[in-house]
Amino acid sequence: MARRVVVIGADAAGMSAASQAKRAGGDALDVVAFERQGWTSYAACGIPYWIAGDVAGPDALIARSPEQHRARGVDVRIGTTVTGIDLSAREVAVEGPTGADRHGFDDLVVATGARPVRPPIPGIDAQGVFGIQTLDDGAAILAWLDALGGVDGSRGRAVVIGAGYIGVEMAEALQRHGLDVTVVDQAAHPMSTLDADMGDQVREAMEALGCRMVLEAVVERITVDADGRVTGVVVAGDLFPADVVVLGIGVRPETGLAVAAGVPIGEHGGLMTDDRMRVVDADGAPIPGVWAAGDCTEVHDRITGERIHVPLGTYANKQGRVLGINLGGGSARFAGVVRTAIVRVCDLEIARTGLRERDVAGLGLNAVSAVIRSTTRAGYFPGAEPMAVKAIAERGSGRLLGVQIVGRAGSAKRIDTAAVALWNRMTAADLADVDLAYAPPFSPVWDPVAIAARKVAEAARSMPAVSDRMR
Ligand SMILES: Cc1cc2nc3c(=O)[nH]c(=O)nc-3n(C[C@H](O)[C@H](O)[C@H](O)COP(=O)(O)OP(=O)(O)OC[C@H]3O[C@@H](n4cnc5c(N)ncnc54)[C@H](O)[C@@H]3O)c2cc1C
Repeated sequence: MARRVVVIGADAAGMSAASQAKRAGGDALDVVAFERQGWTSYAACGIPYWIAGDVAGPDALIARSPEQHRARGVDVRIGTTVTGIDLSAREVAVEGPTGADRHGFDDLVVATGARPVRPPIPGIDAQGVFGIQTLDDGAAILAWLDALGGVDGSRGRAVVIGAGYIGVEMAEALQRHGLDVTVVDQAAHPMSTLDADMGDQVREAMEALGCRMVLEAVVERITVDADGRVTGVVVAGDLFPADVVVLGIGVRPETGLAVAAGVPIGEHGGLMTDDRMRVVDADGAPIPGVWAAGDCTEVHDRITGERIHVPLGTYANKQGRVLGINLGGGSARFAGVVRTAIVRVCDLEIARTGLRERDVAGLGLNAVSAVIRSTTRAGYFPGAEPMAVKAIAERGSGRLLGVQIVGRAGSAKRIDTAAVALWNRMTAADLADVDLAYAPPFSPVWDPVAIAARKVAEAARSMPAVSDRMR
């Protein structure tokens, strides 16, 4: 008899796992995936670009539809919510178009993703306040924006709460939609995944775009009219009128079902797995037949050795693939992360990998940093754009610990070079020596990443300041 696999959540992690398992396991596996929404394998990452008008949606954002998955042997049930897990009975409870039901499994894959943070701010449930997580959210905000007015000219006022990567992407999208945009964040600079000096360049770019940046400020309440529609956001006593509010305050692992079934979670609220994507208990022992991947899990940070929660599509897809191979009888491992991420705000590209200065300080490491300014091409070559690179290394050993890039077109993908160096625990000096490609249309003779690596390697060799040595 075929082994019964139940997958909860049919997006990046769940469907990578399901399709890979089916490909590897064939008829030996009977794979059913439950998805509470109407979509499968959709690109949430594309939603801000859909709203901005850069890409079509929602169909264009679907990599594989339920029908396409079914044609490959995975039984996808959309519009069906898993409401409970019974690990001893090896069953899930589901509610779908045909009512409530139970479904047995031998293996369970939890791929429930993450849920946007919705702090208990008065007025947060008003009409016109949107989280951006699903294609339904994208469609809902577009319908709301369309109802506000025409495509050209001023179309109303938007407040974006939270200046992380989704917040800044949405701010740009709304600005390009013709809205007057205010971004509020309690931090001193947008993109707290960067150090302050690099994040400040993002603030400058957003202000140049026309966004009003209200930083180091806490939202007190959202004001609402008699019909329940949002009218504004009160921040530190000041009212910012708003016809639409977007929440970009971050996400938390969606683990409620697993926790209710008795599965432990880690320090950051995600399911803990081993490198084969088997869910483990507090002692690190696999819980038989329970697997997890994607935003609902914590990941192993290769630099610090810690478990962290970093919800990224790259991890969800890789973890799902590894899970599916193992479930299908093969052997694969998820080797961890070095926290590499990239985003674009207007023509400003932003990327980071590894640790920030504040992480390094928190770990008690003695580190140095260097920031260099260069260009994306040879300085004399048409189209050369400015870019800044910050590199962080351990004093003494010279081990590279982190790199951040902020610059114009052609800057940010250079982060991948640094990510490879971090992955392989290279020193900054090693990275400076790497045989990187050069021709004037692509790079200065010394690539900006190599220059930053050389500078920080020199700093790492230098003696600590007297005050540092005395600490
Ligand atoms: C606006 C936006 C932009 C992004 N941009 C980027 C980017 O540029 N780069 C990047 O790497 N990442 C990006 N991400 C993150 C990326 O989209 C996620 O990391 C990825 O989607 C995680 O995949 P997942 O399968 O773990 O979770 P999800 O995509 O959240 O899928 C989980 C699925 O489980 C379903 N589900 C949950 N509970 C149940 C239940 N009880 N029953 C049935 N179904 C259930 C949900 O409906 C959902 O479809 C972005 C995310 C957003 C929202």
